[in-house]
Amino acid sequence: MDAPRRFIPISEPLLSGNEEAYVSECVRSGWVSSLGKYIAEFEQRFADFCGVRHGIAVSNGTTALHLALVALGIGAGDEVIVPTLTFIATANAVRYTGATPVFADSEAETWNLDPPDAACRITPRTRAIIPVHVYGHPANMAPILELAKQHSLHVIEDAAEAHGARYQGKRVGSLGEINAFSFYGNKIITTGEGGLLTTDDDALDEKVRFLRDHAMSPEKRYWHTEIGYNYRMTNLQAALGVAQMERIEEFIAKKRHIAQTYNQGLREIDSITLPPEASWATSVYWMYSILLAKDFPLSRDEVMARLRQQNIDSRPFFYPIHIQPPYKADISLPVAEDLSRRGINLPSAVTLSEEDIQRIVQAIREMA
Ligand SMILES: *Cc1c(COP(=O)(O)O)cnc(C)c1O
Repeated sequence: MDAPRRFIPISEPLLSGNEEAYVSECVRSGWVSSLGKYIAEFEQRFADFCGVRHGIAVSNGTTALHLALVALGIGAGDEVIVPTLTFIATANAVRYTGATPVFADSEAETWNLDPPDAACRITPRTRAIIPVHVYGHPANMAPILELAKQHSLHVIEDAAEAHGARYQGKRVGSLGEINAFSFYGNKIITTGEGGLLTTDDDALDEKVRFLRDHAMSPEKRYWHTEIGYNYRMTNLQAALGVAQMERIEEFIAKKRHIAQTYNQGLREIDSITLPPEASWATSVYWMYSILLAKDFPLSRDEVMARLRQQNIDSRPFFYPIHIQPPYKADISLPVAEDLSRRGINLPSAVTLSEEDIQRIVQAIREMA
């Protein structure tokens, strides 16, 4: 009998740097709430990393998206175009404002928002478009930005899965007007829960800072000129964030190395499509994702079950949002539907060993 083999998780944070020291410092000093030195330091470091002027830390990625939309004045009666193949928070944030998310199909090549399909969905009510850099690969931004210019639409990047990815050499988070990141435990870097907005626009920066703190007048304490939110990040979270920023380049390099290793091991299997990396893109492979062809001997769910039997975790792709109960619509977005049925995310944690990856590759080869 083989010895039981280590459970390989889909994702796992790596907190072995200065995380403990910085969090302990918050505890010792008493600065555990949303004032304290780590917040501004984290915001500045992350903004510099993206190549933008402003970073505004918030409670999570969903509240970052919500605040971006509110700051742009989007609300009831407006429409916002989002890809149907994304995490549900992208659409929920639109709905929180009272606006309507309008779902667009994905590109077969990059699995991201398809610009021509998005173009077809523009109406006189469309106010914004949210490209999402799904699984760490940047969306095809030039045609999206061009479309936005032609129709005077705001562009908000949902970069929750793509910290550090590059589009034509530029970091994501620097391409839209105001952009959202998440630092949930499985993202490229984590603050436990957390989020951040990036922008080069001074007025938007000011507006978001105001809204995240109950929309309190900067001149007059406890005076509120509109309805704001408590979407602040704590100093404890930002302490984790500063320690994680010290290693972000290392984490990205590791993600890219994991992807190369998988690619080498799976390349010869004709019935598997490897993850994309467009000529204009540098992906961070947040999740290493594959597609099973129709002639793969097992179904997607059977593959996941077999991996599970071997103590290997995996995830199906997102379900398209337009087929899910809160947003169910009688439309067909065939590329996203097809990707969703055939896609699997394989373990992608920066803690993976070479041996772990070979074990996963071997398990898949045996099924092919
Ligand atoms: C994780 C994620 C979010 C939401 O982030 P939270 O911090 O979990 O609120 C939004 N959009 C996408 C694409 C995500 O992957």
